[in-house]
Amino acid sequence: MPIPELQQIVEAVRVKQRFVIASHARPDGDSIGSQLAAAYALRALGKQVTVVNADPAPPPLMQFPGVPDIQITHRVRVEPGEDAAVIVMECGDLARTGVAGLERFFVINIDHHPGNTSFGQLNWFDDTAAACGELVFDLVAALGVPLSHEIAIHVYLAILTDTGSFHYSGISPRTFDICRQALEAGVDPVLVARNVYDSNNMGRLKLFGGVLSAMQIDPTGRIAIVYLDHEMARQAGGTYEDTEGLVNLPLTVKEIQAVVFFKQNEGDEYRVSLRSKGDIDIGSVAKEFGGGGHKNAAGCTVTGPIDALQKLFIEKIERAIVLVESQDCRIAGLQK
Ligand code: 5GP
Ligand code: MN
Repeated sequence: MPIPELQQIVEAVRVKQRFVIASHARPDGDSIGSQLAAAYALRALGKQVTVVNADPAPPPLMQFPGVPDIQITHRVRVEPGEDAAVIVMECGDLARTGVAGLERFFVINIDHHPGNTSFGQLNWFDDTAAACGELVFDLVAALGVPLSHEIAIHVYLAILTDTGSFHYSGISPRTFDICRQALEAGVDPVLVARNVYDSNNMGRLKLFGGVLSAMQIDPTGRIAIVYLDHEMARQAGGTYEDTEGLVNLPLTVKEIQAVVFFKQNEGDEYRVSLRSKGDIDIGSVAKEFGGGGHKNAAGCTVTGPIDALQKLFIEKIERAIVLVESQDCRIAGLQK
């Protein structure tokens, strides 16, 4: 079935010549994969493409094609004009990019997060996609660009990382169909997984050790609270970038239903990562604190004394868990 938003984007890509492709600050595998798959496709059409991000890619992703060439900047350096457009991947609003000056361009917004604000001149938003990379896959096909090895690797990277190695909700038959096509285009899934997950430094492992030893569990035994500050990172010999993926580990314990990870920014300001299992809507918890994300993976930034913050988050998460339990009871009741 033709998607009107996609057709409009294809038309815009045809008429424009210069592109800036941006994503959110602290980019993840889906940001990088979506940006670079699109960049390689547009270059195959002879377009001039600049990929920009506010922050560098996580170190393991540096090994993927084109990643070291991403421009790291807080202000776009490309001049706007009639022939230019910005494609923003993975952002609910333009501020999420952390890159100033994008609003002066014709903006194409491609995203799969619930609550996207339709900030672009063209907006294509599909929250049934497991990764933004799924949408980029469709864009590449709609542009008539063959699935090159580089494009396929980046689409696969986006899906692998954003589904948490095929753990999270949102995975559909389509997800596997795209992965199948990526493998047919030459992607080696073992090599990708090894590059993404098995190329860490020792500091990261020590940091994981330190943070997990200090982990707390709420009185109900269902919520894990993890915490990291600059001093802990220094002692372990790791950096904040090394914490990528750490928030998911407590969920490997059967009883743990949700995780909240506080990472100190400066003073009393904390970056919060939230994760949950099943129907527990952690995204709505993040939204209450001015953040956002998906049902099972979300984040926000908060300020205050850490003890009070922890208490507040546990209360809200507890409420989200109870909500699902009461729904489960109702469904069980109906079935009787
Ligand atoms: P992470 O915990 O890995 O930083 O983020 C998990 C998910 O939540 C990602 O899909 C990310 O896009 C979303 N997210 C994280 N922080 C924020 C935030 O401050 N605002 C919004 N809108 N989404 C966020
Ligand atoms: Mn994503």
